Amino acid sequence: MAKRKNISKSHSDIEPYPKRRSNRLKCALADVKLAIPTYRASEIVSAVASSSFEAQSTDAQKNLQDLLEMPEDIFREVLRHLDPQDLLNLFHSASVFRTFLLHKSSAPTWAAARANLPGLPPRIKSMNEASYASFLFDKHCEICQVPYASGQNTFWDIQMRVCSACQFSRSIFLPENSFEFQPQPPFIDKKEFLSLVPTMFCGSLGGWMPKIVQNHLTQYEEMVTDEDSFKQWRARMNKEREERRKWCDYHYDWLRIDAERCERQMEQRKEGNLEIWRTRYKDITVRLIALGWKEEVIPTQLAQHPQVKKLQQLTDEEWIEISPTLVEYIKTQIQDAGMVET
Ligand SMILES: [Zn+2]
Repeated sequence: MAKRKNISKSHSDIEPYPKRRSNRLKCALADVKLAIPTYRASEIVSAVASSSFEAQSTDAQKNLQDLLEMPEDIFREVLRHLDPQDLLNLFHSASVFRTFLLHKSSAPTWAAARANLPGLPPRIKSMNEASYASFLFDKHCEICQVPYASGQNTFWDIQMRVCSACQFSRSIFLPENSFEFQPQPPFIDKKEFLSLVPTMFCGSLGGWMPKIVQNHLTQYEEMVTDEDSFKQWRARMNKEREERRKWCDYHYDWLRIDAERCERQMEQRKEGNLEIWRTRYKDITVRLIALGWKEEVIPTQLAQHPQVKKLQQLTDEEWIEISPTLVEYIKTQIQDAGMVET
């Protein structure tokens, strides 16, 4: 197969007026199809492949086994009550879930999960469910793949999450004068063509990704044969851009809704943690009283002891383990305060 050609000036070997639908363009289309719509899926696959499933604990494997043995309809019913971020976490956790959630039969599960988050922007048609969830909730730059890369922004026209280093890279987003081509048939010049192609601008810097331009050029040359088909192509390009712009409005609303949702969740978590801690402290106090300690001599500082201030329910086994330490702590506190133990 012929190698894909680059349309940017620095590497350009495209003739000014290439023969329409040449083998070169067809090959380019095949390559670009692989390169663009699947970029998120491929990174997800590599992320899953690199995850160390074997390294998980025996308990985790047992839990996984229990999940795998659950009847599929029940498992799906459970998943329907989660949100897309939960499904994405599950997706990243083990290849068995990745396969399960990528299967077309899981589409209603994803749709139900999306419905659990009011205000979530509608799914972008060109992305599958997992890619869309990754686009919304993952935290890496989609170009350099660096997790939590600084200055990340979602750019509505190219519909990608890009870090500041990539945004300002002159080798990723190229200005207009870096491209040299003429769409065939020539119903449109390069400048107008580029004005219809998804682009990323951040202030005065930015431009077009060559692979996106190549993809659209290939589509143009596949679709446009005469004046009528050219008008259809241009109408389609304008419609697609309008859809991306609308999605951007939804996304801005979503960012506000999501920030409020996260704040509520943190409050609830904080409240829940406080309740767990209170219950544990009360349980320990009751057990100390059962050992013969009077409630009034148990120092209030005990609540702050690392063995007490834990976010887990106290078990009998744990009590056997920690009670000598806590008794010693109480004795020391009482002595320091000059009190009588009992
Ligand atoms: Zn980046």
